[in-house]
Amino acid sequence: MRFEGKVVAVTGASRGIGREIALQFGLEGAQVACLATRVENAAPTAEAIGPKARAFGCDVSDSGQVDAAFAQIETEMGPVQILVNNAGVTRDTLLMRMSEEDFDKVLDVNLKGAWRCVKAVMRPMMKARWGRIINVSSIVGLSGAAGQANYAASKAGLIGLTLSVAKEVGSRGITCNAVAPGFIETEMTAELAEEFRNKVVETAPLGRLGTGADVAGAVLFLASDAAGYMTGQTLVIDGGLTL
Ligand code: NAP
Repeated sequence: MRFEGKVVAVTGASRGIGREIALQFGLEGAQVACLATRVENAAPTAEAIGPKARAFGCDVSDSGQVDAAFAQIETEMGPVQILVNNAGVTRDTLLMRMSEEDFDKVLDVNLKGAWRCVKAVMRPMMKARWGRIINVSSIVGLSGAAGQANYAASKAGLIGLTLSVAKEVGSRGITCNAVAPGFIETEMTAELAEEFRNKVVETAPLGRLGTGADVAGAVLFLASDAAGYMTGQTLVIDGGLTL
């Protein structure tokens, strides 16, 4: 029960990694605000957690929706103490074929969306002189990936955002860290060719793809008191794939 009484907001909580993060916070006593593009997408996660959780609709690429959703969370649940920026999309294609729209969309959701949510929680966290922000980046933000120039740029940008927020608000008792998952079995990776999945399994020393629970464990650690003296860090959760 590490998070009893804490208000936690998780974006992209409808499925995959975000759902698992929200569920684990719920299991450890948190009041969880589960966000997804539509309230009905996030509702099953909130229902699975129970009465302490609520669902909110919020497209993180829309500043008006972000501000409205976080204002509603504060009214209904109290000020957000822990923010997990997990919402993300891919629009993979080779650079030569990548449209400006594909590039902008991925940056707008993955990077600017996180920045919008950080801004929305900054005032209450500074007032409380306590806060935890965890950004879900990716190993491709550290290494790059062919066919993912937009996605890798957004995930590298998240690491820069993490470092800057850590420096800017550390003196106010707020930490900001990132996680960089490798290949995690979710809808986002369901389309990967069998051959590619096998290669990941063969290459990673831990010999398997990751699960949402693998990522959630690291996120909850970064939000916990045990990580109270850590900020600006990026934890790689990839089964050793990038070693
Ligand atoms: P997923 O299954 O595709 O889920 C994506 C989540 O993001 C959904 O909850 C979706 O909500 C939400 N979302 C998408 N666009 C949004 C928007 N504009 N505004 C608000 N929410 C939005 O993805 P996942 O695999 O769980 O990935 C979660 C995070 O981990 C992403 O940031 C991803 O880049 C990162 N990651 C994943 C992997 C992996 O291998 N899976 C590896 C490294 C990093 P709706 O249901 O409403 O669409």
